[in-house]
Amino acid sequence: MYSELTGKVAVITGGSKGIGTAISKRFGQEKMKVVINYNSDLEGAKQAVKAVEDAGGSAIAVQADVGSEEGNKKLLQAAIENFGQLDLWVNNAGMENQHETHELSLKDWEKVINVNLTGVFLGSRTALDYFVKNNKKGNIINMSSVHEQIPWPTFAHYAASKGGVKLFTETIAMEYAARNVRVNSIGPGAINTPINAEKFADPQQLENTTKMVPMQRIGDPAEVAAAAAWLASDESSYVAGITLFVDGGMTLYPAFQGGQG
Ligand code: NAD
Repeated sequence: MYSELTGKVAVITGGSKGIGTAISKRFGQEKMKVVINYNSDLEGAKQAVKAVEDAGGSAIAVQADVGSEEGNKKLLQAAIENFGQLDLWVNNAGMENQHETHELSLKDWEKVINVNLTGVFLGSRTALDYFVKNNKKGNIINMSSVHEQIPWPTFAHYAASKGGVKLFTETIAMEYAARNVRVNSIGPGAINTPINAEKFADPQQLENTTKMVPMQRIGDPAEVAAAAAWLASDESSYVAGITLFVDGGMTLYPAFQGGQG
């Protein structure tokens, strides 16, 4: 637990399930005030609000599409109107779909890029504008992926979006470091969330995935949330522009694990 986080105000996008809900819950344990964004899953968002409150924090659920300027403005307004300020913005919302690239439609490409990359830009811009104009210390965490580094055939648009998040994060981390705003990414590996539910329900696919993880297991959303809490805290006060991989070693070339090669 990080006592300096008590009372801090965070916006978290895509908080109605998976990693977003786990981060919200962890922020509740840190006694923070959380604006939990959802796109369509109001029920999930209500459960996330309850999880934050049960853990000792405060929360409200706010519907918004992160791919729109109005949606991001609405989230900032909700933070200020309900909790008086903004300290931290977590661009977590993301989506994926699988297509061979020669069959990937422009529509599917744009859908993924709009949420995963444009959404990160719009959320970051909204938070940066608030921090700069209010001369306020700020913190932004972007949810990237191991696929900002590892190519992923049939998910070219997803990999391109996360590769974009990596350089966007590094660039704005540099641009705003002297203005007391820290920006970092988290790069999860294979985490047990609804995005992977179908895959991990199939024992063969689960085994295929765990073989790619030196720790030989998939990750829990709470393990990603712990990384978010650390990046939000002052314990990471000299950390800027990194991707903190939370991946059981997936980015370490696991095919070499047996010493071959
Ligand atoms: P998830 O599908 O469980 O949750 C994604 C959330 O994003 C959902 O709440 C969804 O409603 C929300 N979202 C999608 N489009 C939105 C929009 N337009 N506006 C607002 N919200 C929207 O997935 P997850 O596994 O919890 O993923 C969270 C983040 O972590 C994503 O950015 C994902 O790419 C990243 N990630 C996940 C894994 C993993 O193994 N689960 C691995 C690497 C990266």
